[in-house]
Amino acid sequence: MSPIFHPFDQHVADNTEWDSPMFRLAQQQFLRAAEVMQLDENIRDRLLFPQRTLMVSFPCRRDDYANVETVFGYRVQHVLTMGPTKGGIRYHEDVNLGEVSALAMWMTWKCALMHLPYGGAKGGVRIDPHQLTRSELQRLTRRYTLEIISMIGPDKDIPAPDMGTDEQVMAWIMDTYSQQVGYSVPEIVTGKPVVLGGSLGRTEATGRGLVFLICEAANHIGLKMTESTAVVQGFGNVGSNAARLLIEQGTRVIAISDINGGVHNPKGLDLQAIHAHVAEHGQLAGFAGGDPIDNAQLLELECDILVPAAVQNQITAENASRLKCKLLAEGANGPTTLEADSILDEMGVFVLPDILGNAGGVTVSYFEWVQDTQNFTWTLAEINGRLQKVMVAAFERTLLRSQREKLNMRTAALIEGIERVAQAKLLRGLFP
Ligand code: NAD
Repeated sequence: MSPIFHPFDQHVADNTEWDSPMFRLAQQQFLRAAEVMQLDENIRDRLLFPQRTLMVSFPCRRDDYANVETVFGYRVQHVLTMGPTKGGIRYHEDVNLGEVSALAMWMTWKCALMHLPYGGAKGGVRIDPHQLTRSELQRLTRRYTLEIISMIGPDKDIPAPDMGTDEQVMAWIMDTYSQQVGYSVPEIVTGKPVVLGGSLGRTEATGRGLVFLICEAANHIGLKMTESTAVVQGFGNVGSNAARLLIEQGTRVIAISDINGGVHNPKGLDLQAIHAHVAEHGQLAGFAGGDPIDNAQLLELECDILVPAAVQNQITAENASRLKCKLLAEGANGPTTLEADSILDEMGVFVLPDILGNAGGVTVSYFEWVQDTQNFTWTLAEINGRLQKVMVAAFERTLLRSQREKLNMRTAALIEGIERVAQAKLLRGLFP
């Protein structure tokens, strides 16, 4: 059978509803890996697109009552072969179907790479959550939950937090779902407050998992954590926790940023003072313990470890050659373009790719779901210990493949995930 699409066709998704720069990046990464591993063409073409896609529009009433806005929301399930689907919900003003679909595809490879029994999913609402009051955010979340309720379920598809959502949003989703079925269903979401069945250690799990990997990678390339410097883009859940845990390892964090820019201090930043400043002013800008720096300059600072932990498309063909780090540890999803990857390879930068780097979040989400479905709780020490084991094992599998097959870490990680999904598809067979 001739392939529907030629690998590396720049316009693979052009004629589909999912088309967007981020979905094209996800597809091209996948196609590059598929070609290297000589993936069966039928399976390759099947995995290029999400299995289920739901797009909704619904009204959101502002607090002044008179003002009602129509907002757009999405839920995408990429692969249903591996078990229930799993993936976060993003609130951001740029969210679109292509972005959510790319994130869902990456979730598939991530879960398979980590050996978690899930396919990939993702959801999103196209709003800026910072422009909403708490009550507006609650109404929006409850209505969005109801709009996608046919798609989610504790055995079907389990949401979690992503950019712009947090444990409070998860609590509202859990409550809305539970109201509909008539009893409490904590296992409908992960990343919820501990008192509602959330897991200890979930909030910081993505940052913690990333720092476990940074320690492994540093050891591999001969960096001493206590003598290293780090730069972190993003001061949200992932960035702030990664920075804190890097400092615990003895690493000097010399710059950090949020959406409005960052602060730089070559002597090392005082994270507690930054938290106090952000709590008072709502942003990093104006922090006295360092010099202001913009997000573009921050990425090009001389450092050992660079941690993009904010948004996608930050390291591109335009700026990749100016990076001065030895280790790029991706906390964000999709921070590096395909062209930038090739440049970083040539420069000899060791990359912890996103599907591995930020997999600590979904790993502890899996632990949370397991605890909820068993009605049994684990201690924080058990969770962090299990997380470390899972992260280190995935790192070792990826590194081994990259060395054995002479691949960069991203391609090796993708193949680790894709191979498992392809194997499962072949074993299940084709219906009907
Ligand atoms: P968050 O909303 O808690 O924080 C995002 C941070 O990025 C904020 O400091 C924000 O100011 C900053 N930011 C937003 N736009 C920016 C821009 N254009 N330039 C620079 N900074 C910008 O989000 P989060 O949960 O920390 O997620 C960050 C990234 O990590 C996302 O790519 C997300 O998909 C990924 N991720 C998160 C988790 C998780 O468990 N939260 C898990 C896996 C991956």
